[in-house]
Amino acid sequence: MISAAADSRWVVLKFGGTSVSRRHRWENIGRLMSARQNEGLQVLTVVSALSGVTDALKAMAAQHGDAAAMAAGAEALIERHRGFALELGLASEFLNPRVDALRRLVSDVRAASGAFAWQAELLAQGELWSSTIGARFLASLGLDLQWLDARDYLTSREQAIQTDWSRYLSAICDPRPSVAIRDDLRARGSLFITQGFIARQPQGDTVLLGRGGSDTSASYFGALLGADRVEIWTDVPGMFSANPRLVPDARLLRQLDYDEAQEIATTGAKVLHPRAIAPVREVRVPLWIKDTERPDFPGTEISAESAAGAPSVKAISMRNGITLVSMESIGMWQQVGFLADVFGIFKRHGLSVDLIGSAETNVTVSLDPSDNLLDAGTLEALCSDLAQVCRVKVIAPCAAVTLVGRGMRGMMHRLSELLAEVGARRVHLVSQSSNNLNLTFVIDAADADGVVPSLHALLVRARLTGAEGDPVFGPAWRELEGLRPAPQPSWWHGVRPALLDHAGAGTPTYVYADSVIRARAQGLLDLGAVDRRYYAIKANPHPRILRRLAALGFGMECVSSGELAHIRQSLPELPLDQILFTPNFAARAEYQQALELGVHVTVDNLALLDDWAELWDGREILLRFDLGRGLGHHDKVKTGGEKSKFGIGLADLEQAVASARRAGAIIVGLHAHLGSGIFDVGHWKSVYSDLAALAERFPALRFVDIGGGLGVPHEPGEPALDLGELDAALAEVKAMYPRYQLWIEPGRYLVAEAGVLLARVNQTKRKSGAQFLGIDAGMHTLLRPALYEAWHEIVNLSRLDEPAAGRWQVVGPICESGDILGRDRLLPASAEGDVVLIANAGAYGASMASNYNLRGLVREVYDDSI
Ligand code: ADP
Ligand code: ASP
Ligand code: MG
Repeated sequence: MISAAADSRWVVLKFGGTSVSRRHRWENIGRLMSARQNEGLQVLTVVSALSGVTDALKAMAAQHGDAAAMAAGAEALIERHRGFALELGLASEFLNPRVDALRRLVSDVRAASGAFAWQAELLAQGELWSSTIGARFLASLGLDLQWLDARDYLTSREQAIQTDWSRYLSAICDPRPSVAIRDDLRARGSLFITQGFIARQPQGDTVLLGRGGSDTSASYFGALLGADRVEIWTDVPGMFSANPRLVPDARLLRQLDYDEAQEIATTGAKVLHPRAIAPVREVRVPLWIKDTERPDFPGTEISAESAAGAPSVKAISMRNGITLVSMESIGMWQQVGFLADVFGIFKRHGLSVDLIGSAETNVTVSLDPSDNLLDAGTLEALCSDLAQVCRVKVIAPCAAVTLVGRGMRGMMHRLSELLAEVGARRVHLVSQSSNNLNLTFVIDAADADGVVPSLHALLVRARLTGAEGDPVFGPAWRELEGLRPAPQPSWWHGVRPALLDHAGAGTPTYVYADSVIRARAQGLLDLGAVDRRYYAIKANPHPRILRRLAALGFGMECVSSGELAHIRQSLPELPLDQILFTPNFAARAEYQQALELGVHVTVDNLALLDDWAELWDGREILLRFDLGRGLGHHDKVKTGGEKSKFGIGLADLEQAVASARRAGAIIVGLHAHLGSGIFDVGHWKSVYSDLAALAERFPALRFVDIGGGLGVPHEPGEPALDLGELDAALAEVKAMYPRYQLWIEPGRYLVAEAGVLLARVNQTKRKSGAQFLGIDAGMHTLLRPALYEAWHEIVNLSRLDEPAAGRWQVVGPICESGDILGRDRLLPASAEGDVVLIANAGAYGASMASNYNLRGLVREVYDDSI
């Protein structure tokens, strides 16, 4: 007879650590349980411990010999849970039984030895606490729910290879759909809450399902109850193509079949415990992954359905803490039973082998810490047994990086490119799964940083541009989080044909976009606190740039008589008062000439006032101070600080006053410029106020010049300097010193982004896995990478839409090993004649160019139409 309750429909909801640690999240849990109940479903909620609690319990277990330390740990946890009950508006007496249980475990006789059975009971307390508090809170919201002890429903089974560690701390259950349990629960109500992570041995001891095992509990319950679905609620809105916290461009995977999800979970995506798939797959129960903070967002659905779409890499994951055991045969390789003996030894030590790689005389296997107790004792014992049959070497710590997707065999032909991607790093082992779903590399853990983001950019992001409405790939984490938006394409994306035309007329060529210079200039004209703006022409003295900026009201700042003459020639109408002369260690004649001409002259060495006294009598000049610190993107652009050759030290202030008086110089301005590429608005504020604070020593002072150094974003997407914030900061100082005009003299800020360098590919070359792209621009054209290790974006303008094909070293034709314009750049397969664009090259590009190797000077084009 079919029981009336047997056709009850169930859903299992699982909430992870972060989802149960705050009051509003429990309110969400209550709402979700009620919503599911209103859909006509029976609801079983499975909860993790509050976040961090299992770790804290584990730390206590590790101190098992030290009763006092354990007791302190226990009291801290008791406090935390009582405090949380208070946050939920609950009087905490109901927790007394949990408090007693925890204290009992601290004084338990088994604590002295740290027995695994005791550890399991101790770690189980986290979920018992959280479910007890949650049940009480949900009841206080009016939900009619029952608290269940998960151990009454989940029974662990013996595993093929069982150690005490796996028996107690990494147990496996075999739940079968049970009508009896459904009936029983249906008779008791329709809302239930229980613990994740814990189960019971047939003999009655508490066991754990492995770290992160609450997901697996939910699956077990889903299978046991024949649920319509299992919903895993966590702190991300689904499973992503890579860990979104490492790779902001990772894409949501909307739909996965069990096999793919299994691979992604097994190979490191912590969002789902690897053992959570098998139980639901067996009974065909779909599993959803959803975000507790965004309940309406669809998330990931894992089911037997496979989404259509071409084979492709769907995810890239990484596991850390991998240990490799490399075994070199000592002559017995072909001997019957050799491998059986070797693996027998692993079995004897209760170690489960993950990946296997073999060569003629070597077998290397990997051990994953989530499946094994990899303490020093175990490894030592293993090695000493293995040493009887082979030469053994342990390589650790390693990281296993895995590409997951259908048709990974098809990736094999790109293996060399991918290996080039992991570049100079040592690849210890490569393994392709027999189900064609994964390809794994094991590399040194120390080399692992950055590998997942690079591979993701190469294999997932590059292939997905414009994949709107894709059945599998959803939005990027970056979009969902409202992170810095994906970079706005730079201006040059929109004028590619015009740039290719400019390149057609000859390369290498700098192209300057008038509209970009105007836009930057306007930003500075809008700074209300600033009275005068000078353009530091050393950044780029192109006459058209000078004329454009002068027309917008900028004065000019120069550092040599050559630059001074150039300004006079390019801008004959520019009033002399609009020219600043700020040389450093220049000859006496240069000062003399500038003074006679009548431009503003800056002195940054007191010896000049004393030694060349005849120059200064009655002259109005500026003094440049070194405020004792330097800032900037590279040591070589810092122009302040003890070792800097610029400026007068602050300690010499009184001497400066005296020397100026003696020489008859009238100090009308104070100047400081501490460096370049500075984004911190506080920097200018402090330079301004430090200089203004010196003003009272100079009675004729009229202005304070705080220099330049305004930061220019160098990577796409890097936020720009906030000019509004800068203006507000400067205005604050101005309000304190209203008598003095404020001058600035930026260079790079005005022109860097406006210029691109166009070059042509001369040659390509491959050498020991490295790919070189040799172009006709080099350190003679753009010195910044060699001089300052500056990073400039580099693209292949001829193939702007083509996907990247590995990392390239972009080099020039100069006979110097430092002639490298960009290292490890993701670029498409490129060929001789392609046009390459180097961005943000408008400042200190052409102005620093040379004729080194007699390669000729670079061309320049000022384009009014872009
Ligand atoms: P819970 O406490 O809810 O069980 P976990 O911390 O165990 O949550 O799992 C969620 C975390 O998994 C995410 O915050 C994310 O950092 C991490 N994660 C790793 N890889 C992935 C991936 N491919 N997709 C989504 N999340 C991932
Ligand atoms: N609380 C357990 C852990 O932190 C189980 C889980 O959260 O899934 O490992
Ligand atoms: Mg988890």
